[in-house]
Amino acid sequence: MCGIVGYVGNKECSSILVQGLRRLEYRGYDSSGISILDSNEMVTYKKKGKIIEMENILPNEIKGNIGIGHTRWATHGKVTDQNAHPHLSHNKKVSIVHNGIIENYRILKTKLEEEGLHFCTETDSEVIAHLIELNLQNHSFEEAFYQTVNLLEGTFGIAAICIDHPDQIMIARKGSPLVLGIGNEEMFVASDVNAFLGFTKQVVYLEDNEIAILNKKDFQIRNLKLDKIDKDIKTIDWDIDAIEKNGYSDYMLKEIFEQPESIKRAFAGRFIEDIGTAKLGGLNMTPQELFNIERIRIIACGTSYHAGLIGAIAIEELARINTSVEIASELRYKNPIIDKNT
Ligand code: GLU
Repeated sequence: MCGIVGYVGNKECSSILVQGLRRLEYRGYDSSGISILDSNEMVTYKKKGKIIEMENILPNEIKGNIGIGHTRWATHGKVTDQNAHPHLSHNKKVSIVHNGIIENYRILKTKLEEEGLHFCTETDSEVIAHLIELNLQNHSFEEAFYQTVNLLEGTFGIAAICIDHPDQIMIARKGSPLVLGIGNEEMFVASDVNAFLGFTKQVVYLEDNEIAILNKKDFQIRNLKLDKIDKDIKTIDWDIDAIEKNGYSDYMLKEIFEQPESIKRAFAGRFIEDIGTAKLGGLNMTPQELFNIERIRIIACGTSYHAGLIGAIAIEELARINTSVEIASELRYKNPIIDKNT
């Protein structure tokens, strides 16, 4: 499901961002990264794999009290360091993180390439950074962000920062949750309240088609036509444990009720309705490579092992490919036969 965090305030924020990402880990991800404005320089670190892999490349001395972070679950482009978020604009002044899918990214990318912009990643998200940079030529950061968001089709939660506006985070939501956390001379943004738990319990939930401008002292919310929207600040009076359970008495109940939403998110961008088939961005195989598969081993544990058992039955029935399921913790002690067609 992936996640976003952002901070603007008086504290050095790298550890706040990393801690926030850790709290979003349960949503699932394949890579992570952060961008921080450190003495008028955009410093970005990103890495595929667990959050610890990204933490391991962070220097101790990063300063800066405004930044954004991301855990990615690839839909467009392989799982690589380069494709991990944040993404920078061409002049490296703008950095963005994005959850969701930009459906019209190909058209936007082609136009930007015709204008001479060079893309560094295979993601749909990178267009957002370049569009903001282009729009900044004639507009303020706020305006450039609004203009950009209005060009996007698809689903998004976006957070953006810019070197020339070192006290602002711009965010936008359409189909991917975002919540603001209001602290004492500090603001947080995240896909989930538990990312900033322990810092503030004052929150504002963004709705679809809303944009917000955050600085450390206040925030403004607008719709896509730039009309101002008044929002109530809510106080979360649950403790950390209850917040993680989202008000339910236990995790089992929470997860049962989350199923429609979880399934919807799992499908987003990975199902092509017109031709009724799956699109797995992280698994870019040619039809020939797929035809060559002779055997499939599903490696999993716990719930995913049981899901794998069902998956194996479906694959054997539908694709007629020999499929077995292995418990991950056991497989590592075996010497499995995995040839090039497995
Ligand atoms: N579509 C974007 C990508 O593939 C964002 C995926 C996500 O929501 O993490 O990088």
